[in-house]
Amino acid sequence: MNLIKKVLCVAALLPALALRGADAGKVLDLLDLSRSGLEKVAELHKQGQDSLASSALLDYFKGRTGVKSVGVNPEKPKLTKEERRWADEGLEHKFFVHKGYQPSYFYGDDINWQYWPVKDNELRWQLHRTKWWVPMGKAYRVTGDEKYAREWVLQYRDWIKKNPLTEFKGIKDKDMEEVDNVYFAWRPLEVCDRLEHQIEQFELFLPSAEFTPEFLIDFLDNYHRHATFANSHYSAQGNHLLFEAQRVIFAGSFFPEFKDAASWRKAGVDILNREIKKQVFPDGVQFELDPGYHMACVNIFGKALQMMDANGYRGEFPQSYLDTMKNMVEFTYNIAFPDFTLPVFSDNKLHTKHGVQGNYRIWRKFFPKDQALRYFATDGKKGKLPEYTSRAFTNGGFYVMRNGWDSTATVMVLKAGPAGEWHNQYDNGTFEMWTNGRNFFPDSGSFIYGGDEEVLKQRNWFRQTAVHNTLTLYDKNLQTRESKLLKWEATPQGDVAVVETPGYDGLTHRRAVFFVDKKFYVIADEAYGDAEGDVALHYQLLPCDPLENTVKKSVSTAFADGNNITLRVFGADKMEAEEGWMSPAYRVKKARPAYAFRSAKKAGKPSRFITVIYPTDAANPANHDIKAAYKGKYSPTSATLEVIVDGKKYPLSYTL
Ligand code: MG
Repeated sequence: MNLIKKVLCVAALLPALALRGADAGKVLDLLDLSRSGLEKVAELHKQGQDSLASSALLDYFKGRTGVKSVGVNPEKPKLTKEERRWADEGLEHKFFVHKGYQPSYFYGDDINWQYWPVKDNELRWQLHRTKWWVPMGKAYRVTGDEKYAREWVLQYRDWIKKNPLTEFKGIKDKDMEEVDNVYFAWRPLEVCDRLEHQIEQFELFLPSAEFTPEFLIDFLDNYHRHATFANSHYSAQGNHLLFEAQRVIFAGSFFPEFKDAASWRKAGVDILNREIKKQVFPDGVQFELDPGYHMACVNIFGKALQMMDANGYRGEFPQSYLDTMKNMVEFTYNIAFPDFTLPVFSDNKLHTKHGVQGNYRIWRKFFPKDQALRYFATDGKKGKLPEYTSRAFTNGGFYVMRNGWDSTATVMVLKAGPAGEWHNQYDNGTFEMWTNGRNFFPDSGSFIYGGDEEVLKQRNWFRQTAVHNTLTLYDKNLQTRESKLLKWEATPQGDVAVVETPGYDGLTHRRAVFFVDKKFYVIADEAYGDAEGDVALHYQLLPCDPLENTVKKSVSTAFADGNNITLRVFGADKMEAEEGWMSPAYRVKKARPAYAFRSAKKAGKPSRFITVIYPTDAANPANHDIKAAYKGKYSPTSATLEVIVDGKKYPLSYTL
C-alpha cells in the first residue's frame, strides 16, 4: 500500500475507532483486581479513573513475571525467510491464509474480510486465523521497526470492527456464499486458533509504543469475548474439540487475571481428560485414523500439559493421560518410514523429516526414558532402536510389516480398521509400501477439503475406495468400513496379517498379507458372498514410467538406480490402466500409474486373487519368473497357496 492510501485508510478508521473502543470500566470489571500486583489498578478503577487504571494495567503487564507461555520466545524469536515474507506481505494486505493458495491474495487497502476468491471453505475460514500476525510480531522484534506494530494494531481493530459476534442462524438451505460472515469469522476452531496465537502477538508487540493503554483495553475485551464464546461453543467431537479445549486452557493459563480464568482451565482440562479416553483407542491410535491429525492430537495433549505445568496449574491430568500419549507416540514412530515420512492415509499430507523429527524432539520432554524415541529424535546418536520390527495396532487397524528401521528396510503399513471419524476415507485394506528409500505405493492423499460443488468433487475423487490399493465391487465406495483382524503373526522369519472387510451388501473382502522371509509381500485376496459382478483389485504406483505387461498382468518400475519392484496379479480376467493421482500437499497433485485387475464374480462363488510384490535390484525387474496359485478350494477358515519366484518355492498358508 502506498503512503497516501495508507494515510487515507488510517484516517478513515480513526473516527470509527474512537466511537467503538471498548469500555475500560467494563473490561476492568472482568479482572480480579485483588490479585497481587494489581493494587494500583484496583485503586484507580475504584476512583473511577479508568483511563489511568488502563495505563497502570499496561505497566503491570509489561512488568509481569511468573506467567509463562510455551509458544514463541518473545525475547529471541526465530523469524524464517518465509515468515518475513508473510510479515512484509501482511503490511501490504496480501495475507498469508493457506499454503494451498499461493501467492497470497490481496484483501484490499480497506480490508475486505469477506473476500473469498476460491470457494474452498478453508480459504474463508483460515483467513480468520490471521497467520501473518505472529510473523509480523517476530519481524517487529527482530527489526525493531514500529511499522509492523502499527499495522498489527490497525488490522486487529479493523478485524474487531468488521467481524462482530452476531447471532448466527445456521447454514441450512443456503448457498455458502449467502451464509453470514459470522459463520466463518467465529467458527469455534478459528476462535480458538486466535486465542492461542494472540498470546504470542501480545507478548511480541507489548513493548511497542503502538501498544497503548486504550489498545490494551480493546485487546482484553476482544480476548475475553473469544474465550467466553469458545468455552460455550465447543465442537461436538473430534480433533476440533481437542484443539478448542487446549486453547481455552491456554487462555486461562496466560491471563489468570480474568475472573473466569480458573473456570476456563477447568473446562479445558475436563474435556481433554474425557476425550483422550474417547478419541484414542487402547492401542494409541486417534479415532480419525489420519497420521497427520494423530500427530496434531499428541501435540494438543502435550501443549496443554506443558502450559499448565509452566504456570503451576498441572491440574487433574492423571497418569493414564501420559500413558495414552506414550501409546500415541509409539504408534507414530512405528508407522513412520525410515525417511520419517508417514503414510498419507485419510487427509494426511506428506510431512518432512524436519517436521516429524521436530515432533519427536518435543515429545522426548514427556518421555525421556523412551529409548526408541530418543534414537529417532537424534538420528541414532543416542537411544536405541526397538527390539521388534513388525507391530500390529489392532484397535485402529494398522499393521506394520517391516524388516528393519534403517534406509535399506522394507516396510508395509496395512490399514484395515473401524469406520473411524471425519478425516478417515473409504480405504479399508489399503497399504503403503516403502523399500530402500522409495515409497512405491504412496496413498492418493486428499488434495482438498470442503467447499462448493467443484471443490467437493475434487475432494471426493481422492476419497474413493477405487483409488486405493484395495478391492472394489463395481468400483464403488465401501458401504461399510468395519474391518476385523482375523490373524496376526510376526516372527523373525516372516509375518502374516489376515483382515476382513464386509464392505458391500453380499460381498466380504478377506485380505491376507504375507511378508515372505521378510523380503517380499504376497497378498491373497478373496471376495466372497452372494454378490455378483465386477470385482477389481486396484494398485496405485508412485509417479514413474513403468513397464506394463497386460498379458502377464504385471507391472514393474524401471528406476535407473536399480531400486525397483515388480508386481504381478494372478486370478484376474484382465488388467486395465486407470486414472491415477497422488497428492502430497493441499491442492498439489501428481499423475501416477494406476491399474485395475478385474474379475467377473459369480453369485455365491468367491473371486480369488494373489498379488506378488517383489522388491528387486535386477537389471530388468520384469524378468523375474513369478508364479502363484491357491492350493485347494476356498475355505472360510483357511487358505493355502504356493508362490514360486525364479524357481524357488514358497508354500504359504494360514488357518483361522
Ligand atoms: Mg487415501
